[in-house]
Order: sequence, then C-alpha cells, then structure tokens
Amino acid sequence: MLAVIVYYVFCGLAICAVAGVHKWTTPYAVLVMVALWPAILCHAMLMCWKEALEEWRGRGKDGVMSKIEWTQKTWNPVAGCSDKSPGCTNCYAKKMAGRLEAMGVKKYEGLTVLQGSHRVWTGKIAFDEQALLAPLRRKKPTRYFVNSMSDLFHENVTDEQIDRIFAVMALCPQHTFQVLTKRPERMLAYLRQVSDERDMQRWVNAAVEFDLPSPMFDAAVAEWEWPLPNVWLGVSVENQATADERIPPLLQAPAAVRFISAEPLLGPVDVEAFLGDGESAIGGMEFIELDWVIVGGESGPGARPFNIEWARSIVQQCAAAGVACFVKQMGAKPFMAEDCAIGFTLRDRKGGDMAEWPEDLRVRQMPEVRG
Ligand code: SF4
Repeated sequence: MLAVIVYYVFCGLAICAVAGVHKWTTPYAVLVMVALWPAILCHAMLMCWKEALEEWRGRGKDGVMSKIEWTQKTWNPVAGCSDKSPGCTNCYAKKMAGRLEAMGVKKYEGLTVLQGSHRVWTGKIAFDEQALLAPLRRKKPTRYFVNSMSDLFHENVTDEQIDRIFAVMALCPQHTFQVLTKRPERMLAYLRQVSDERDMQRWVNAAVEFDLPSPMFDAAVAEWEWPLPNVWLGVSVENQATADERIPPLLQAPAAVRFISAEPLLGPVDVEAFLGDGESAIGGMEFIELDWVIVGGESGPGARPFNIEWARSIVQQCAAAGVACFVKQMGAKPFMAEDCAIGFTLRDRKGGDMAEWPEDLRVRQMPEVRG
C-alpha cells in the first residue's frame, strides 16, 4: 500500500510542479488533489487487499481460487498458527489474517496482533465448520491446497479436528488435497495412530457426523484405500537444517505423493540423499524417495535475497534422480553471486514470470501419483 501511496504523491507533486510553472492553474491543481485523495486511498487499499477480498468472497463456497501455480484452490477449515522457523518470518498468512480481521471476518478474530509495526500470530486456532464441508459441494476434480492460512499439524489443532478434515478428504476422491506442514513429527505420529487401526475407523466416525445421505456415504466409505490416493503430504523447508530435520519423518509417512516446498528458500539445500529409494545415509533408515520438489524465492515486503544458483542446484539434483521439480518463482530479490553482488530486477514483482528466467530454470513438472 505504501508503494501505491508514494506513487500517487509523486504524481501529485508533478501536477503541483506544473501548476507552479503556470501559476493560474494552482487552485485547480489543489482542488483536483483534494477531490482525488479519497479515491486514491480506496484504489490503494483495493489493490493491496485484493487477495483478502477474494478470500472473504470465497467464504462458505467450495474453496477460493488460488494464485499459487502448483494448486488450484485453497481450502481453509482451520486458520491460525505460530512461527516455527526462519521461513515463517514474512508469513503471508499472518498478514492476510490481520487484513481479514480488519474486514470483520469473524474466523480471523484474535488470531494475530500487532507488535510494533509487525503482525504476529497469537497461537489461537479457529475451526471453520462452514468451510469444512466445502469440497463435498464441488463435483469438478480440483487440486486443493489444505490450510494455506494455518498448519494442519499445529499443536493447537486437535486430533478430532484433523480426523474431520481427513474424513472430508476421504469422501472426495474426485479432488486432490495437498497438505503442507512444518510439523512433520506430529503428522507422522497422527498417521501412525490411524494406520494402527487399519480400517480408518476414526475417519468413519468423524464422517458420520456430516449427515450425508446414507447410500452415498456407504458407497464412499467402502472404497476408501490406505493411504488415501488423493492426499499428497509435504513439508516446507528453507535451508539445510530444516530439510534434514523435516524430510525424514515425511518419508516415513504413508502417502500417495510426498513432496517438499523449498520456499522461501534462504540458503543452498542438498536433497540428493532423499531422492532415491532404499537405505539412506540418514542412520540407515529405509524410506521411499520424494516424489516432488517445489522451489522458490521470497516475495512481498521484507523479502530476503534468493540466489538463483540454489534453484539451479535443486533442478539439477531432481533431473539426475528423475524426480519432478517445480520452480515457482525467483522472488522479489533474486541474485546470481554468493555475495549478492549481481542482483537483477524482474518485471514481475514476485519473479513469477517464467519468460524472465534463465532457460534451464523454466521447469514446472507435476508428480506422478504412486499406485
Ligand atoms: S507454519 Fe506456515 S502458516 Fe504457520 S507461521 Fe509458518 S509459514 Fe505461516
């Protein structure tokens, strides 16, 4: 918003400068500026709050269209979170939650507070009953990013709430659900608990409460498979330490697709050890390889620098292992040398226009689902 206001102030000064040269126009220029000011503010707010408005308009529908290139819609049965690691510093969801609260959306009340000029999470979690059943209303096969405004495995999301979300995903085989977490230990513990029961009874119990017509319900439940073929599990990593910590539990979790989102990437990451089936260097642990790697730089206010060599290295590691890779964006501060010396400016402010990238980084592959 600041950038838009600065832009208009600049235009205003230019008008005044012209008025200063042609003195007779001064009162008219001032009049125009005063009359335009409310419109300028509204335009600035609309431009900056556009995504919040879309989220607001999507309430109670079957999810909100997403600008994230690797998904189609976001589905937020849960909102609210807490910072987990440096990747959370400029969390988009945190700022969006503040805007939605300011717009009077009840779900976001008290999820964040302002600390100085920074918005921070309070740790409060909101469970949205209305949003929960949204994917059931949509017949058209859709790829949903689950909980873009939270972390499904946050410590304050209860097991019962997770059961209900998995029950909806199980009841919607027509859709694909992409679950991304920074808390894979809890994800693994939860799924181990469910798999011990084998028959997914806890999801059946949760689904009974949805009050669906019984022929539809019985037919759907009879076809449930373990693990659910339409649920992809992923972890966010931002550097080598978080990759080494979060990928091993992900690889032990039962899932049709396991993926990482290396965004915002804050340093080089070597994922080679996780890109091949079999025993690994990680304590001789057996695991199945990653199916998909997403990589991208940070965008938005306060974005941190992104060395495009980090992306190049990941693209090359994936190509060598035959694993699908998706380069999402170069971020707002891409650079090409170790010391940030060769920065460059892209027209797209998120660095998301592939046409502006080096050719070898124009890679946007989707994973194959394991049978
Ligand atoms: S885990 Fe995700 S939603 Fe939660 S603070 Fe970090 S980036 Fe934001």
